[in-house]
Amino acid sequence: MKNLHRLCLLGLLCLTACSAPTTHSDPARPHHRPEGFANTNTQVQIGQFPWYEIMWRRWRGDFEPIAPPTGGYEAFAARWRIPVDLTLISQRHEAPVLTWLGHAGMLLQVGGLNILLDPHLSAHAGPHPWLSAKRRVPAPVRVDQLPPIDLVLISHNHYDHLDANTVHALAARAQPPRWIVPLGLKAWFDEEGIAGVSELDWWQHEKAGPLTVHLTPAQHWSKRTPFDTNRSLWGGFAIEWHSDSRPQAWRFLYTGDTGYSDDFKEIRRRLGPVDYLGVPVGAYLPRDFMRPQHTNPDDAVQIVLDLDAREAIGLHWGTFELTQEPFDQPPKDLAIALQQRQLAPDRIRLFKHGESRHLLPRTSNGHTP
Ligand code: ZN
Ligand code: ZN
Repeated sequence: MKNLHRLCLLGLLCLTACSAPTTHSDPARPHHRPEGFANTNTQVQIGQFPWYEIMWRRWRGDFEPIAPPTGGYEAFAARWRIPVDLTLISQRHEAPVLTWLGHAGMLLQVGGLNILLDPHLSAHAGPHPWLSAKRRVPAPVRVDQLPPIDLVLISHNHYDHLDANTVHALAARAQPPRWIVPLGLKAWFDEEGIAGVSELDWWQHEKAGPLTVHLTPAQHWSKRTPFDTNRSLWGGFAIEWHSDSRPQAWRFLYTGDTGYSDDFKEIRRRLGPVDYLGVPVGAYLPRDFMRPQHTNPDDAVQIVLDLDAREAIGLHWGTFELTQEPFDQPPKDLAIALQQRQLAPDRIRLFKHGESRHLLPRTSNGHTP
C-alpha cells in the first residue's frame, strides 16, 4: 500500500511542467529559455522524464541501494560519523575551516564569516516522509548548535539541497542569515516568508565582507513540484577570500550537483585555479540515468584536473538513500579512480559526517603562515 501511494504521488510529480514564461528570461544569454533554463551543452536536457519511466525505474529499484553497506548501516554510521567539534565551530576563523554536515551540506568558516552550503539536517529529503530519500546517517549537528550564520548558499531546489525545515530553523534564529540562490529560486523563499535573499545568474557575483561569491555553471536541472521543471536555475559557488596576508585570493569551489561537462574547464579559464574543491562522488548508479546529472568518482577526478584543484572533499554520498550504489561503494570507486590517474589517495578526501578540517597548513602556534 505504501508503495502504491508512492507510485500515485510520483505519477503526479512527474506530470509535464507547464510552460508559462519565466520573468528571468534573457534571450541574449545562451542558457536562458522562455520557460526556464538549459545546460551549457544544449544536447543535455534533463528533467523531462516521462512519468512512466520514473515509475518503472522506481519499481525496479533504481533509486535505492541494491545492498546495505558491509556490516550494515549502523556500522557504516559508526565508522563515518563523529560528533562536531562545537568549540572549534563556535569560533570565528580567518583561515578556512570546513565541516562536513553530511550529503552536500558544509559549514565553511573563512575570512571571519560563517557560511553554510546546501545545509540539510533533516531525517528525510523529499516533500513528504514517505515520498522521500531516507537519511541513513543522523545529522551530526542541530541548527541550534551552529554558530551565528552570516551567509547560506543554496545550489538548486532539489529536496536533498533545499530543505524547508533547515531553512526555516535558520531563518528563525535571532540573527537570520543572508541567502544567495540561483536565478528564479528567490520566489520560493518569498512564498515561505523568508527575507534577505539575493539571486545570481551564472558568472554573476556578490560581495560579502572579504569574500566574493560567484555563481558558476553546472550540468544539472531543477524541480520541486509537478509544474516547475527547470524553471529555476542550478549551479555551483566559487567563494574567493581576499586577505591582506595573502598575495592572491584563496578560492573555494563547490560544484553543486552536476554531471561531467566542459563547464569546469571554462570555470578554470575565467576564475583561475581552485585551492579547495567540493565535488560530488556519490549518487551515480544506474549510470544510464545518472551520468548526465551526477558525477561518479572518475568524473570527479577529471573535474579536479580541469580546475587545477589542489585539494578536494568528496560530497553527495553516504547520507541519503537516493541511488543504486551501496553506501560503501563511493570510497572504493574513488580510491580506484585516483589510483588510475596516479594521484595521491587524498587528492579527493572523504570527511566523516561532522568532521572539521583546517584547509590551509598551520604553523606550530596554530596560525596560518
Ligand atoms: Zn539535484
Ligand atoms: Zn543532489
